[in-house]
Amino acid sequence: MRRATTEDDVKALTSSLSEKLVPALGLDLVGLKPDDIKDIIYSIVSSLAESRSSKLTEEAAMKRIMATKDGLLKAVAAMLLSRERPLTREQLEFIAAYAPEAAGRAAPYLYQQAKRLGADDIIASLRSLWSQYGRPTPVECPRCGFRAVTPDLTCTVCGAQLSEGEIKRHMGFSRLLLETAKRLHPRLVEEMIAAGYVVLNHEVHPPSLAPKSGYALTIHLSRDEKETLRSLLSGGPRPDQDAGLPGSR
Ligand SMILES: [Zn+2]
Repeated sequence: MRRATTEDDVKALTSSLSEKLVPALGLDLVGLKPDDIKDIIYSIVSSLAESRSSKLTEEAAMKRIMATKDGLLKAVAAMLLSRERPLTREQLEFIAAYAPEAAGRAAPYLYQQAKRLGADDIIASLRSLWSQYGRPTPVECPRCGFRAVTPDLTCTVCGAQLSEGEIKRHMGFSRLLLETAKRLHPRLVEEMIAAGYVVLNHEVHPPSLAPKSGYALTIHLSRDEKETLRSLLSGGPRPDQDAGLPGSR
């Protein structure tokens, strides 16, 4: 069957529409030229041409593209992301705005770009996109602030190799440990002291109550932390009696 719109028509439409769409969609503001979007426009125009029996006019194609421009902007954002070239601030904002899912998944790469540009506000929005669409873990990284610390204590976003001490300080571990211990049965507190470590995800767990799935970190207890737990067991108030005491919330 002969197509009403020929391949040459599609190419001519692609090139003319690319020229017009760059300023129409403000893509010049993110440093794009008609050539940069040609591949995307070509695939839109050729599928429009295939879906109709009459010849595709430029006006009809333009109308159709503008009616579904969010899809086009998303494709452009994904293209910018996949080029893996140094990004400008405007391009980063564009990607985060129009391809949030892809930006969330690509947060490690985009974080490096935003950091190079000193764009703290963009880093903040990347953190929430990472939590929503990326691969967040329960523990926040002290260096980049993304929830991306894995059980081997590396950060999958900024690549930092962390120490247990750094993670503990960042999250206020001593206090969290004590608050947890006050709620637990004394036998479980004894278990933590004897084991010398706890398991950490969104909260602190004695080893026997370690979560069965998801990311969890093994965090060793310092001498001081064990001492605090011991004094809680020996002298401190019992879990059922301490409600209302200062410091017990
Ligand atoms: Zn990090």
